[in-house]
Amino acid sequence: MTDETLQKILKKNPGEPEFHQTLTEVYNSLQPVFKKHPEYAEAKIFERMTEPERTITFRVPWMDDKDQVQVNRGYRIEFSSAIGPYKGGLRFHKTVNLSILKFLGFEQILKNSLTGLPMGGGKGGSDFDPHGKSDDEVMRFCQSFMNELYRHIGPDTDVHAGDIGVGGREIGYMFGQYKKLTNSFTGVLTGKGLTWGGSLVRTEATGYGLLYFVEEMLKTRKESMRGQVVVSSGSGNVSIYAVEKCEQMGAKVVAMSDSGGYIYDKEGINLATVKHIKEVDRGRISEYVKSHPKAEYHDGSAGIWSIKCDVALPNAKENELDEKAAQALVKNGVIAVAEGANMPSTPGAIKVFHKNSVLFGPAKAANAGGVAVSGLEMSQNSQRLSWTFEETDARLKQIMVDIHKNALAASEQYSTKGNLVDGANIAGFLKVATAMTQQGLV
Ligand code: NDP
Repeated sequence: MTDETLQKILKKNPGEPEFHQTLTEVYNSLQPVFKKHPEYAEAKIFERMTEPERTITFRVPWMDDKDQVQVNRGYRIEFSSAIGPYKGGLRFHKTVNLSILKFLGFEQILKNSLTGLPMGGGKGGSDFDPHGKSDDEVMRFCQSFMNELYRHIGPDTDVHAGDIGVGGREIGYMFGQYKKLTNSFTGVLTGKGLTWGGSLVRTEATGYGLLYFVEEMLKTRKESMRGQVVVSSGSGNVSIYAVEKCEQMGAKVVAMSDSGGYIYDKEGINLATVKHIKEVDRGRISEYVKSHPKAEYHDGSAGIWSIKCDVALPNAKENELDEKAAQALVKNGVIAVAEGANMPSTPGAIKVFHKNSVLFGPAKAANAGGVAVSGLEMSQNSQRLSWTFEETDARLKQIMVDIHKNALAASEQYSTKGNLVDGANIAGFLKVATAMTQQGLV
């Protein structure tokens, strides 16, 4: 396919830089596939795959604690149902817009395909900012959000999960409202509470899965996580459980962050303290130094990448790790970087890692553990069964091992062995492209 194809798609989606970023990366990775399979270019598979099947935007009015009316915008991008119902998280953050959700939704198509489970791709959310809101305000917002969304979704149509700003509390409020509106108890959301249809390991899944993936990357260089020094950005769901698994694997995590700044504890971060600050108090990472006076707090989250480490895990947000940060990591001897967040490394940063032979695990492969266990939650809900922690964790681990194996094999077949960016894009794409071809022009 010619560059003209990509340019046309970019032009059709003006003012959407994050969406352009992922489209350009995936398009470049797929060039060898288009050469080998001209039938995909002929059937315009890429052009079709990059156009969402359906985009829903809606008004979300709600009343704050001061009895003032607030209005936010809600979104759901139903991107692809080629291999299963639309599946993907909801993000509540003040920066949410169409570009961010289209980038996340498009990535989700390929990520879900990589898991080997029958899930299509979708993403949604709102520009609602949960920071500083009371539980009652969050509940009223979630109920109003679901008052519109419920008519578009269903356990066999479109299944939601958490993402930034959407955790167990928000999933609970939305599930409650969906149940009331539809008079049905179904698995329309994943990440549910354990007593009402949730799956064990879902909370830990993205972080744990990330480390299972890193362990596979390291094995290719006869290394392991034992004894490694780690930096993990963010201090939300993904980062906290990535850090927990690092500790279980015998690694030492020395730094974590939030959007305000980062903490550095050279003795090793005390995760129980971070969990308490973030999960119980919903506080700021800066509070860590109050109970750990030997640790340091620095304003500004980007500085975290200047800390010397063997393994770097960008687990916070898109484009948080730029070329300069990548150069600093390389200078400090980093051996592996794996993305728990979605698209946290800029294209310039990825180039630096590849050029310096740093093992690099791209998001759609490395952080697929979350959606994989969401898929397992859907299976358990359909069967009205609950699997044990050990059984679910073992399935998660196997899925991550397989994703690494398949991405590595695709990189060897079509690109450069070990280029997991290309490998993941290609392996994810091929399965969806085959399904689209077999299902005709729909
Ligand atoms: P959470 O809302 O639980 O946590 C996000 C964390 O990142 C918070 O600690 C937040 O701090 C911090 N943060 C935000 N911006 C920055 C920044 N610029 N620098 C440093 N820290 C920052 O979200 P999740 O942990 O669920 O999601 C994190 C990433 O992982 C996102 O990219 C998401 O799309 C991706 N992801 C999540 C999955 C999941 O299962 N949850 C699955 C797959 C991917 P603050 O409180 O200050 O905003």
